[in-house]
Amino acid sequence: MATIAVIGAGLAGLVVSRELAQSHDVVVFEKSRGVAGRMATRRADPFEFDHGAQFFTARSDAFRTFLEPLVEAGVVADWQARFAELRRDEIVATRQWDTEHPHYVGVPGMNAIGKALSSGLDVRLDTAVRSLTRDGERWQLVGERQERLGEFDWVIASAPASQTAALLAPASIASTAAKVGMDACYALLLGFDEPPDLSWQAALVHDADISWISVNSSKPGRPATCSLVVHSTNAWANAHLDDDAETVRRHLADEFCKITHVDIAAATFVDVQRWRYANVDRQKGDLYALDAERRLAACGDWFVRGRVEGAFISALALAGRIGQDAS
Ligand SMILES: Cc1cc2nc3c(=O)[nH]c(=O)nc-3n(C[C@H](O)[C@H](O)[C@H](O)COP(=O)(O)OP(=O)(O)OC[C@H]3O[C@@H](n4cnc5c(N)ncnc54)[C@H](O)[C@@H]3O)c2cc1C
Repeated sequence: MATIAVIGAGLAGLVVSRELAQSHDVVVFEKSRGVAGRMATRRADPFEFDHGAQFFTARSDAFRTFLEPLVEAGVVADWQARFAELRRDEIVATRQWDTEHPHYVGVPGMNAIGKALSSGLDVRLDTAVRSLTRDGERWQLVGERQERLGEFDWVIASAPASQTAALLAPASIASTAAKVGMDACYALLLGFDEPPDLSWQAALVHDADISWISVNSSKPGRPATCSLVVHSTNAWANAHLDDDAETVRRHLADEFCKITHVDIAAATFVDVQRWRYANVDRQKGDLYALDAERRLAACGDWFVRGRVEGAFISALALAGRIGQDAS
């Protein structure tokens, strides 16, 4: 039975871990205090915000099959939002999302999916892997505090591309990862005691520095208190990566007010969150990277596209391949 270290407990890390844990010893290292990665949920009592992934679709049979038990267990549900497309403050199209084309979310928060998938796995939270070194036939992992995290036959990195590049350098996988550019995004989180008057629950925004607004509290199973999540465009976030949080908050709040005509002063909670590595364009290459000789691999959305389903497809493909190689 091979020992396998998986770096990252986002969807890709959890999927590859669950598959391989059926016949191997798997330990997952996650630098955050919780699982789920970019499928994140933040609580700011009495409000809750999915500040990363908003919803996801399932186009492949494999992903639909994977989701079935989660839907059955009530961990995943269909968000039937009133959707609008906006050109700044003008509504240019509306649509009612329906069961024919489900828009899935985690319940009661997006991170519930990661929590459910991590059940039964050996996940070490609050444990960032800083480096790995070859020790004979095995990998020695070292943490941020220079602590030894253990020895493993295989290491799988599921962190975003440039973090994987830094971790796995100088292996060839690192140079593959270093070529993949990921875009940033800011999330403005707004909580209201009195729900603002909006005719939609999810909006795609054009011609603005904001690309998306959702009434997070309209998703199934959320607290009744009104929470909104506003995402910047990737382009604006890339250009303002080093701005201080107050400047970012002011600009996005201003854009939000101009687009929705909602008085931001009515919000009783306002915060902003930066995602340095949020999204990645559709990729054309392999679904994962693997160095069978050195027993090193990587998976994640950045092999496919910055989508939840992309992370799943990459992880499932890698698990299938390592399942054959690991012994
Ligand atoms: C703002 C935003 C909006 C989005 N909207 C959507 C959407 O609407 N629909 C959609 O389908 N997708 C959306 N996405 C993309 C989607 O969230 C991702 O494609 C998917 O969650 C990626 O999963 P992953 O497992 O590949 O990576 P991640 O979720 O990033 O997981 C990687 C994990 O590795 C951990 N890690 C990194 N370095 C280390 C280290 N050194 N040691 C230990 N752990 C480490 C990280 O903490 C993280 O938990 C959005 C993402 C963002 C940020």
